[in-house]
Amino acid sequence: MNTHLLAALDIGGTKIAGALVDGIGRLLVRAQRPTPADRHGSVVMDAVRAVLGELAEDPRWARVSAVGIGSAGPVDASTGTVSPVNIPGWRDYPLVRHVREAVEGRPVVLVGDGVAMTAAEHWQGAARGRDNALCMVVSTGVGGGLVLDGRPYAGPTGNAGHIGHISVDLDGDPCPCGGRGCVERIASGPNIARRALEQGWRPRDGEEPTAQAVARAARDGDRVAAASFSRAARALAAGMAATAMLVEIEIAVVGGGVAGAGDVLFTPLRRALADYATLSFVRDLAVVPAMTGTDAGLLGAAAAAALGHSGGPAVTAGV
Ligand SMILES: [Zn+2]
Repeated sequence: MNTHLLAALDIGGTKIAGALVDGIGRLLVRAQRPTPADRHGSVVMDAVRAVLGELAEDPRWARVSAVGIGSAGPVDASTGTVSPVNIPGWRDYPLVRHVREAVEGRPVVLVGDGVAMTAAEHWQGAARGRDNALCMVVSTGVGGGLVLDGRPYAGPTGNAGHIGHISVDLDGDPCPCGGRGCVERIASGPNIARRALEQGWRPRDGEEPTAQAVARAARDGDRVAAASFSRAARALAAGMAATAMLVEIEIAVVGGGVAGAGDVLFTPLRRALADYATLSFVRDLAVVPAMTGTDAGLLGAAAAAALGHSGGPAVTAGV
């Protein structure tokens, strides 16, 4: 009986989540702390230690063979450091070293949150059984990751597949990343809402002007709201098509809060894809919603730990 467990950390600007995960993707124990994102870096690290400490109270902690971390980016897996945009106290912060000290020297694997979500979808979600896939998170930002030749591909620093900052509009609006016309600048939730507001859409009384509110209005037949989602869908489709041309992905998985809009996003997205994914080897690219939901970060961190630890695809569904 394989009794190894993996410890997973999912670190974002709002919360730090942890879990013990078994070989078939069950989250056996969970712990969570709010991220003290506006505090000194050492205070943020104390919250990470508190999560690990709570997990370590479980007797099954003794069976943990490796620790996976999925962190908000940018990350640098080559140096074990992170500089999450939403955690200003961490700049080139040596997260891997501090976590390794906290877990008595067990192997620690770091990936960006887009790569983690991708590893989760490949292990347990919509990309299961697919050898070449693009997985995307469309929410406050747009992130993503790749599965190539049957394995999540993290790249040298753990950021590969960062589709949100591919430019799909050469002379488009400046993006906070320093580029122009990025997918994220057009397709993220805040940008869907911003564009709808600029074009005259207004939320209902008492309703926040979010992408969810725009989606609701689009569903009710509001043309401005629908047009804002259409524009986001075209940006996503152009980015997906470019990715498919480069590395021949067979499926694109879309998760995150904006994907919760359902057909309001997916119908124009599939239509737009036909405009951009034109060559024979990309024409059959499927676009599907993600399946792993809010556990994606933890599942993906565990999958990354298993892959990084063993040097091979040790984590496979049902094994
Ligand atoms: Zn950008």
